[in-house]
Amino acid sequence: KERTFIAVKPDGVQRGLVSDIIGRFERRGYKLVGLKLLVPSVALAKEHYADLSSKPFFAGLVDYMTNGKAPVVGMVWEGPAVIKQGRVMLGATDPKAAGPGTIRGDYCLSIGRNICHGSDSAESAEKEISLWFGGRGEV
Ligand code: ATP
Repeated sequence: KERTFIAVKPDGVQRGLVSDIIGRFERRGYKLVGLKLLVPSVALAKEHYADLSSKPFFAGLVDYMTNGKAPVVGMVWEGPAVIKQGRVMLGATDPKAAGPGTIRGDYCLSIGRNICHGSDSAESAEKEISLWFGGRGEV
């Protein structure tokens, strides 16, 4: 069964969008199989965004995810084509390009505050689920 990692980032939590985002995946028919609220460690955030470590916005992104002004909601969702469809439901990374009806297209405009994250491939889904859920049998 296909699984993906979806996160509501601190701006989404702070703005009260957790229930909307969970509801969209539930109503679509996907199954919630992992859920946690946490302030990620700097090590976790750096590993999660390792591909972006050379980008100029990397330090700000890691600080934003980890400074504790609001936590992150980490989730694992399961179902047919959930990796690809999860990304479709989130909308384009840059909200200015995200279509209406998507989470980003409905709720935000700034790439640095784009509310949510979703795994972009089977490999990243596997890596991110074990990173955020720790391989301790939780999911
Ligand atoms: P995500 O992993 O969050 O679903 P993505 O895989 O579509 O996004 P990436 O290019 O991997 O996109 O960027 C990851 C995250 O880094 C983005 O969601 C955004 O929060 C942040 N980011 C990307 N580009 C910028 C930028 N130019 N300025 C600030 N933050 C950025």
